[in-house]
Amino acid sequence: MPHHVNWTERAQALKADGRAVIDGQRVAAVDGQTFAKHSPVDGRFLTDVVRGQRADIDAAVRSARAAFEDRRWAGQAPAARKKVLQRFAEKILAAKEELALLETLDMGKPIQYSMGVDVTATARCIAWYGEAVDKIYDEIAPTGDHALAMITREPMGVIGAIVPWNYPMIMAAWKLGPALAAGNSVVLKPSEKSPLTACRLAELAVEAGLPPGVFNVVPGYGHEAGEALALHMDVDAIGFTGSTRVGRRMLDYAGQSNLKRVYNELGGKSAFLVFEDYGDIARAAQTLAGSMFFNQGESCNAPSRVLVQDSIADDFVKLLAAEAPKYAPADPLHPDTVLGALVDETQLKTVMGYIDAGHSEGAQCVAGGRQARTDSGGYYVEPTVFAGVSNEMKIAREEIFGPVTSVIRFKTEEEAIAIANASSYGLQASVWSLNVNRAHRVARALRAGTVHVNQYDEDDMTVPFGGYKQSGNGRDKSLHAFDKYTELKTTWLRLD
Ligand code: NAD
Repeated sequence: MPHHVNWTERAQALKADGRAVIDGQRVAAVDGQTFAKHSPVDGRFLTDVVRGQRADIDAAVRSARAAFEDRRWAGQAPAARKKVLQRFAEKILAAKEELALLETLDMGKPIQYSMGVDVTATARCIAWYGEAVDKIYDEIAPTGDHALAMITREPMGVIGAIVPWNYPMIMAAWKLGPALAAGNSVVLKPSEKSPLTACRLAELAVEAGLPPGVFNVVPGYGHEAGEALALHMDVDAIGFTGSTRVGRRMLDYAGQSNLKRVYNELGGKSAFLVFEDYGDIARAAQTLAGSMFFNQGESCNAPSRVLVQDSIADDFVKLLAAEAPKYAPADPLHPDTVLGALVDETQLKTVMGYIDAGHSEGAQCVAGGRQARTDSGGYYVEPTVFAGVSNEMKIAREEIFGPVTSVIRFKTEEEAIAIANASSYGLQASVWSLNVNRAHRVARALRAGTVHVNQYDEDDMTVPFGGYKQSGNGRDKSLHAFDKYTELKTTWLRLD
């Protein structure tokens, strides 16, 4: 992390542009409407942002469709698309400081992570799909001598991407990478809470040689621009990341319109199971705190239900309560800060409401629990740990999406599995045990898209990411993501 950069000074000089990008051009809304974007870091005004409506979505979809139909992108050889996407990734890295600053000011995460995680992961994702696309072969079916059946993958057409504010660039890249590499056009609707980096990414893509119209961005509210995109008759698929509440609506929109494919990446309430045989409970507590409080707890996979075996529970809670204050909220623009601001006042109120619910349902708050840095003008909450939680309490059932975790005790392996699976979500889970049989047994029994064993930090573009149950369908990342943005075509040839 370069300490030579004075981020506070840079932030004062920064000029953000909240206009849409359609057909390769920065544009205002058709009706000229905007909304004011303030920073959760300190409440400062950042810029006016396009408040996209149906007319803006129509223009973006028309542009995307035209680009797809004339094959200016899909018609290029995979190796040519690869080169453009690699250049796009290089442009992202070259604009690292600007993008990181925009991300931090827009949604409040510490600048060291915007720099070291968000920008780098975004560039890697785009490059990874670019690099993959000229190494994937199609298939010939084993049908016998009389005929030839080719199974080929074709781009779907126009993909709508609707993404949240917690990792604005990374969530966009997880859709853009596979969708663009496969030859589709994309219309991206970023969250109204974090629109600024998305617009900049679209400009960088054009500079890298992506033909105009292939990647359009329309900022705006969910119930306006988002709804118009999800209901659009000329959008072939929606890649959605966000809440389970809105994911449900995506399925409705598809049903009401053209049955577009809907891929939902939704919420979570991931369980972290610590068995007495693991031994090094300090390490387990450190890992838990690091993963839970990263990104202010605003992570879909945050380990927010900690299941600890009775015999070690008291010691574990003490260790975890001692870890939490190490993640004290501080100025996101300071290079050493590890926990920044929540995204806005609404989120602050939601998180504080859950903390109140924890108290009133009888859980014991053993760390944090209060709002912090109130004189900053921003929205900060202390890293918070509740002990004595039961899985029926509101704080154990619902996704809080803030720095609040709950410790639940269990006696046996069967009970631990039952509690972990007693959730409407199934995004991730973690098992801590040195007994190889138990670790495998429990990992198999857990209904979650990713199970970690004796760690929670592993993450790579090469593995799928997504959930069971109401955490979603489809998978982002890895080669499996191509399934979402391509159609399989069978072509039969008679052989005489
Ligand atoms: P959200 O559902 O409120 O919003 C997500 C996006 O949907 C935003 O762009 C929003 O404008 C849009 N939207 C809202 N209402 C809409 C509507 N009626 N029609 C169309 N679009 C609409 O979610 P959020 O608060 O931005 O993000 C937090 C959620 O995202 C959490 O539940 C979190 O778990 C989830 N998430 C999941 C993953 C994953 O990969 N599974 C990753 C990150 C975040």
